[in-house]
Amino acid sequence: MSAAGDLHARPSKDFEAKLAQTRALLVRAAAEFQPLTQASSLGAEDVAITHLINSLQLDIPIFVLETGMLHPQTLELLERTQANSRAPVKVYRPLEESVIRFVAREGNEPMYKSIELRKACCHIRKVEPLERALAGQKAWITGLRREQSNARAEVPLIDTSEARTKINPLADWTWGDVWHYIDANDVDYNPLHDEFFPSIGCAPCTRAISLGEDFRAGRWWW
Ligand code: SF4
Repeated sequence: MSAAGDLHARPSKDFEAKLAQTRALLVRAAAEFQPLTQASSLGAEDVAITHLINSLQLDIPIFVLETGMLHPQTLELLERTQANSRAPVKVYRPLEESVIRFVAREGNEPMYKSIELRKACCHIRKVEPLERALAGQKAWITGLRREQSNARAEVPLIDTSEARTKINPLADWTWGDVWHYIDANDVDYNPLHDEFFPSIGCAPCTRAISLGEDFRAGRWWW
């Protein structure tokens, strides 16, 4: 069992039913919502979904936003995922000229100076590449779970509230369900999870959390 699995891999009583529902939803999504893609941050939820897509042999490509600020462990996992995934894994990076101009003007750590600069950094490194990744897609798959925060407490399995449908196959999974799946299926995952990073993003904006802190306390903590 993985170190993170040691701590977390206690599945819900109805885990097998949830897993069957998730598999059925992914099969249905692949048939009904093309073109469809999975957005992967390479976090625990996303590696579980990628594993499901591959094991079900679904025609669903995956994309990752490589912001230029990811931890080395995340970049290594990205390389392994690209090498081992049956489904194609496409990487989107920020526009080089935008990054060069922004860093020349604001330095390497603008996110600590103000909320506006943090948002500007996110726009260049995440929002604009995400727009490119989703262009032309009818739907996308995310790893959102209701348990992650109060704001996500109502996340539906299929979200049609926006023009592009969002499929959230793990909406009702617990953190224990995710780790149970990872452990039971020997899924490759980011070793930062073994160091108490539940939510992994850009290196300057993520830190480890203490046991008992909110899941997303490790993001934008300053
Ligand atoms: S999460 Fe931090 S480093 Fe990443 S794009 Fe946003 S502000 Fe920049």
